[in-house]
Amino acid sequence: MVKWIELTNFMCPACPFGGGSDWICNMDRLPVYLNEEGSMKCQFGSHTGPLINWTWNCGSDYHKGEFLTADFEGFTFAMSQAVQLTSRAGAEWVAALLHNIGKQYGK
Ligand SMILES: [Zn+2]
Ligand SMILES: [Zn+2]
Repeated sequence: MVKWIELTNFMCPACPFGGGSDWICNMDRLPVYLNEEGSMKCQFGSHTGPLINWTWNCGSDYHKGEFLTADFEGFTFAMSQAVQLTSRAGAEWVAALLHNIGKQYGK
């Protein structure tokens, strides 16, 4: 059984300048969730996909208005800063997530 965690107060993993954001789906403006398999979805699951394909835009100048994918280092750094999220999810969830994300990125 997977556990979905809402991505709140989570740094932009796609750029060096993103502060903490509460992420919403760019299609329907609904909250965005992540599970330990590295799957993303918005609230009712209308939009879903592997993290490696998900696109992000925190609104910083780096994006020039574009939604960008995250690289492995960007995502793992954002996770390392997401103390509230990781304590909500639990250590086992985080370890499983990092393992599965590594597989997505071929690490
Ligand atoms: Zn959506
Ligand atoms: Zn950004």
